[in-house]
Amino acid sequence: MHEYPDAKAVVRALEPDDPVILTRPHAASRAARFFVEKFPGTAMYAVKANPSPELIRILWEAGVTHYDVASIAEVRLVRSILPEAVLCFMHPVKTKRAIREAYFEHGVRTFSLDTLEELQKIVEATTSEDGVAAADLSLLVRMRVSSEHSQLSLAAKFGVDLADAAPLLQATRQHCDALGICFHVGSQAMTPFAYVQALERVRAAIAEAAVTVDIIDVGGGFPSIYPDLDPPPLEDYFAQIHRAFEAMPISYSAELWAEPGRALCAEYSSIIVKVEKRRGDELYINDGAYGALFDAAHVDWRFPVRALEDDLREPPEPFAFYGPTCDDADYMKGPFMLPGDIQAGDYFEIGMLGAYGAAMKTAFNGFGAVEGAIVNDEPMASLYRGDRPDPRASDNVVSLR
Ligand SMILES: *Cc1c(COP(=O)(O)O)cnc(C)c1O
Repeated sequence: MHEYPDAKAVVRALEPDDPVILTRPHAASRAARFFVEKFPGTAMYAVKANPSPELIRILWEAGVTHYDVASIAEVRLVRSILPEAVLCFMHPVKTKRAIREAYFEHGVRTFSLDTLEELQKIVEATTSEDGVAAADLSLLVRMRVSSEHSQLSLAAKFGVDLADAAPLLQATRQHCDALGICFHVGSQAMTPFAYVQALERVRAAIAEAAVTVDIIDVGGGFPSIYPDLDPPPLEDYFAQIHRAFEAMPISYSAELWAEPGRALCAEYSSIIVKVEKRRGDELYINDGAYGALFDAAHVDWRFPVRALEDDLREPPEPFAFYGPTCDDADYMKGPFMLPGDIQAGDYFEIGMLGAYGAAMKTAFNGFGAVEGAIVNDEPMASLYRGDRPDPRASDNVVSLR
């Protein structure tokens, strides 16, 4: 891939008709080193946030050794790139065939579950042809916890309720070498309290089940930074999680794990788009809901934007976007702040698209074509650069929906 100093240089060189995905390897590497050095346990990368092979190699080189995979395709992908990585199959609903292939062909030993049926499936799929049960499984019971402090809920679909957790933990204990409990507080958790609250529930489950627990996995949810979503420093999350973990009724050698997705890759990518048409305060652009901007369309996520033309003079105004397909749902209400005199033919950059953005482009309606370029400038915002005004002062102000 070609390397440029920044997005403006890409526009000057290519005058692209199709969107261009910009990647910033240094930003992903910096985020990974931060988690490796500062998270008080093992931080594994949740591959679904961005399964790009280049990114996975960058994270590995920065010291990320564990990968949270959710499908057999992700297992195969990461295994083909990183033969030595530790893969953890953390989707609580898997097919028996996928479990079997993961265990016997790709060395996966860690699985999550939230029902007795799934436990049964894992036990059967990992039993050898001569009927010998696996003795080396790490099994993590997924608990349902609140998503109230997060921007995107993950509370409805998966996880055993506290009331039903004890029998499942006791049954799982019979079949594993290491027993864990995992949860997900929802994506973009805006306060460390989300984890403290979830860990309280885990503590109650352990007390009731009276089982030995070897792993506490606090899942994903670690935030990135967007307009209106300026979280406390990640160090605060780590400190609160560590304190709650230390107070758990678990074995002295128990491990603390996390599964960050967004926080490791949001700063990795941005995209250059072109304005095809302007209608009042609506800009028709060449990427949208079926491209890298799924979250902007479907959950009204406000990504940061910046104009790439030097001749725009007017102050910023709020704009909404239409994507390129013929679907009315291909609409992003924003508001996105761009110079008032922006017009058809102009380019601008949409930032912080490395997580659940650049990786989600589809080819619907023939608009999937995309070029890529590496740029060396800073992402539009960063949690890792150390130059953010300290938001601790406003710690108690939690922005909720
Ligand atoms: C999506 C997901 C993650 C990553 O979540 P982020 O909010 O991106 O950190 C981690 N673990 C599981 C099980 C997930 O489904």
